[in-house]
Amino acid sequence: MPQQDLIILGAPGAGKGTHAEYLKKHMAYVHMSTGDILRVAVAGQTELGKQAQVHMDAGALVPDELVIDLVREQMAELGSGVHYLLDGFPRTVAQAEALAGIVAALGRPQPLVIYLAVSDEEVVHRLGGRRMCGSCGAIYNLYRDGLDAGDRCPACAGELYLRSDDRREAILNRLEVYKQQTQPLIDYYQQRRRLVNVDGEQGQQQASEQVARLARGESGD
Ligand code: AMP
Repeated sequence: MPQQDLIILGAPGAGKGTHAEYLKKHMAYVHMSTGDILRVAVAGQTELGKQAQVHMDAGALVPDELVIDLVREQMAELGSGVHYLLDGFPRTVAQAEALAGIVAALGRPQPLVIYLAVSDEEVVHRLGGRRMCGSCGAIYNLYRDGLDAGDRCPACAGELYLRSDDRREAILNRLEVYKQQTQPLIDYYQQRRRLVNVDGEQGQQQASEQVARLARGESGD
């Protein structure tokens, strides 16, 4: 089977960003993150950015029409031999249905959906270890980077802090919202036999390699 276009689903902290980096580097995927694109639009105060900002500031989803138009434009710019990795989209069944139409109109095959499964406790552990530098903005993880709580930034000696949305209660709350949003999508893609589960708790390298095998159209085992 040829290389696949991909959607990656997974809770915050499941490793989506890490695997996306791996696929960009080793397989030349175009990483399309609607959250990143929207943040750039907000920072630039474009028409889209102004419309999206109200919703993002309220912690709500941006209306489907806006995000769907955005993805349609990005997809139209892709060359036929270039493969995409969608991250943060679709978030609703309406977006998933729109995506199927966009992809069909472009004559591309339907994407494979990779679901990175990670337990709640593991997410709390991973996100609870995340630290940001107050000076240079670098992001670390105490466990991955071998740092102790109280250490200073290895790059600039700035103070490292825990984001308020990485505290345990906030993490559990984000997970609950994520599950409510995502379950209908999991059902949608499972019914269409497009969904593959990947154990997000195996080693990072192993999980990236499994995702890459699936991306090449091989079996993930
Ligand atoms: P993310 O970085 O994926 O967590 O996205 C950050 C914010 O951007 C979300 O909280 C939403 O407000 C907005 N956003 C990103 N992707 C979507 C989407 N597919 N549908 C609606 N809103 C989105």
